Amino acid sequence: MSSDARGVRHRVRRHPERGHYDVDSIDAILDEALVCHLGVVIRGEPWVLPTIHARVGDQVYVHGAVAAASLKAMASPAVCCLTVTLVDGLVLARSAFNHSLNYRSVVVRGFGTLVSDPVEKLMALKALVEHVAPGRWEDARPPSPLELRATQMVRLPLAGAIAKMRTGPVKDDVEDLGWPHWAGVLPLQVTAGAVEPDSQMANPTAPTPEYLANYVRARR
Ligand SMILES: Cc1cc2nc3c(=O)[nH]c(=O)nc-3n(C[C@H](O)[C@H](O)[C@H](O)COP(=O)(O)OP(=O)(O)OC[C@H]3O[C@@H](n4cnc5c(N)ncnc54)[C@H](O)[C@@H]3O)c2cc1C
Repeated sequence: MSSDARGVRHRVRRHPERGHYDVDSIDAILDEALVCHLGVVIRGEPWVLPTIHARVGDQVYVHGAVAAASLKAMASPAVCCLTVTLVDGLVLARSAFNHSLNYRSVVVRGFGTLVSDPVEKLMALKALVEHVAPGRWEDARPPSPLELRATQMVRLPLAGAIAKMRTGPVKDDVEDLGWPHWAGVLPLQVTAGAVEPDSQMANPTAPTPEYLANYVRARR
């Protein structure tokens, strides 16, 4: 597949140099972001809800309770919008006007489809668990038939997805370079804290899994 194989329906207009349309850039951001925001219209009103997502190939999956109104609206089918955002740094310019963030984001618009095939549903559930903690699926009890029935899974194609990124130093106007105060970038990243083992673990001496001991949101 070529790097631009999903097609481009829209282009970034503000700062067009920050727009990226290739599969690798879009997938890397979707895979690193822990959560997305899902925008849907329910009974004529807009709603934006945070939820976990997982990308598998050219699709992104979201899941929830069978009764979840946001997922029902997404799979009605109706046009919906899914976004992810990674904040990489604070950009502290000399002028207030040129303050910014370094970021990577993706916007996907399209029509969601309910996943009815149980094999695909299970595959997507595994992808969701692995998206949060790669390696975790093997350590988790598999879903029961009842749990599978109680779960609504929706897929959204990545056709036309757009990435936008700001990277690099402050960009001040030349006439502001004499300003005497500090200017620059404060990089930010997600870091894991110390694990908190559950007090009811059947095996209280079970070692902390490797995938938690070295947990990072992998950047590629
Ligand atoms: C980081 C994160 C990850 C999540 N991941 C998942 C997931 O993978 N699957 C899942 O089903 N849910 C997830 N949730 C919860 C999700 O945001 C919704 O609350 C849930 O899906 C219920 O959706 P619903 O359409 O049934 O909402 P309803 O319960 O019908 O919502 C009714 C109203 O409650 C309010 N509301 C709903 N959710 C939120 C919220 N999160 N914050 C503030 N107000 C809210 C809104 O006004 C909404 O219209 C996640 C939440 C967070 C913060």
